Amino acid sequence: MKNTRRVFLMTVAARGAALSTLARAQAKVDEKDPQAVALGYVADATKADKAKYKTYAAGQHCGSCALFQGKATDAAGNCPLFAGKQVTNTGWCSAYAKKAA
Ligand code: SF4
Repeated sequence: MKNTRRVFLMTVAARGAALSTLARAQAKVDEKDPQAVALGYVADATKADKAKYKTYAAGQHCGSCALFQGKATDAAGNCPLFAGKQVTNTGWCSAYAKKAA
């Protein structure tokens, strides 16, 4: 009986940890976040404000940016400019810097 209770509690604890990891992994940057607005971040690079950000060039996106911490094929990944949230692979912001080939 005692072992059953311990296993149950360990399972609950493990599930809780897994869920919080999942929740963290799924948190995406909101385009309305102050930091996102300040950097002109958009989840879809083609929607970048081209009039305001003259450095934008077609084809630029988070997935090919030096600061993108996911794999080039990941749908989303971390970016040091947005701590604790993920940017989309297809996103863009004015701090874009092409990843060295
Ligand atoms: Fe995307 Fe690069 Fe801007 Fe980060 S710095 S949001 S990876 S374009």
